[in-house]
Amino acid sequence: MKVHEYQAKDILKKYGVSVPRGRVAFSKDEAYEIAKEIGGTVVVKAQIHAGGRGKGTFKDGFQGGVKLAKSPQEAREYAGKMLNNILVTHQTGPEGKKVEKVYITEASEIEKEYYLGIVLDRAKECNVIMASTEGGVEIESVAEKTPEKIVKVWIHPLAGFQKYQARELGFALKLTGDRFKSFCELVEKLYIAHEQSDATLTEINPLITTKDGKVVALDAKMNFDDNALFRHKEIAELRDISEEDPLEVESSKFDLNYIKLDGTIGCMVNGAGLAMATMDVITLEGGKPANFLDVGGSATEERVKNAFRILLSDKNVKSVLINIFGGIVRCDVIAQGVISAAKEIDVKLPVVVRLQGTNSEKGMELLKTSGKNFLTADNLQEAAKIAVKAAMGE
Ligand code: ADP
Ligand code: MG
Repeated sequence: MKVHEYQAKDILKKYGVSVPRGRVAFSKDEAYEIAKEIGGTVVVKAQIHAGGRGKGTFKDGFQGGVKLAKSPQEAREYAGKMLNNILVTHQTGPEGKKVEKVYITEASEIEKEYYLGIVLDRAKECNVIMASTEGGVEIESVAEKTPEKIVKVWIHPLAGFQKYQARELGFALKLTGDRFKSFCELVEKLYIAHEQSDATLTEINPLITTKDGKVVALDAKMNFDDNALFRHKEIAELRDISEEDPLEVESSKFDLNYIKLDGTIGCMVNGAGLAMATMDVITLEGGKPANFLDVGGSATEERVKNAFRILLSDKNVKSVLINIFGGIVRCDVIAQGVISAAKEIDVKLPVVVRLQGTNSEKGMELLKTSGKNFLTADNLQEAAKIAVKAAMGE
């Protein structure tokens, strides 16, 4: 699960990580009040679940989702321009994201920008802390062009974080004196925050040193492990559904494993492995899947119905491929779900069904006698071929 910058900073603050003062605003008047309270120059920052805001552009041409405001009036003006506007950054995709809140935070006097991040290194099977002198820019491009500028320390899962590891990073960044000391303290606190909140990613880009020698987290991004949210009620409550794909939100209500993609062939499959294989075969046949959808091993008629409805509400879908292997689930139950959904929704698109396994003949028979025009196939390749052709209108 992702959270906004202001929420990540609230969490980090609790662990003693130094962040600039600030509060979130939902209206321009609120922005004005907060800016007045903070006093002096503030920064107005669009809150969306994506980075690159500073260099982003709004749909109406307004430049930048991070703006320096010299007065409360100016903060109000910028908030007014950002709120309800669509911000496009290199991370949002061309459709952008709607800004529903802005963060009003005190402006820092930046001496230098650094990068600091914590993420799981799957190959090494432990967390890695990364730091770089190349802050404020995309870390992916630093990793690609000048990988030697990223220093890493790996945290042993049993021994845990060791103070010398922060010092190692501090030396590599060539920090000295107070800056070095503050940096080491911040890294330790950040790691504790990451570990104790079951984060999967904690990224501070930029981490800055100020002209008066402080080390401050100027931006913050945190992602959390969904499977651990049950033990972090206060974090689970930070979920912002407006930032998620509406179809994915809808499908999570029915325990469906649905991920929207940008192709034209809607897929309904039981089992994640089979769903992946189905997407592969569709691609091999020259088509593009519109989604990943695993209805689960114990799919009921009701779940299949909901899955079908969600699949079809994606406007890009031109044909549907249903690929079910009846192991625990019975194919006739799936067929019944598909038929009643097709009747309820009045499906006009071509629907290709491939059923194999328990009660597959019975399922096929139900489909054939349903009065609906289902296309059927015995094997996956054939089914994919038909679905791809149908999506192209052939
Ligand atoms: P994003 O990564 O989404 O572009 P950041 O929070 O990293 O957003 O902001 C982009 C840039 O704006 C930073 O690299 C920094 O130079 C500047 N900036 C952000 N917040 C502040 C602040 N509180 N004070 C001064 N400059 C800031
Ligand atoms: Mg940033």
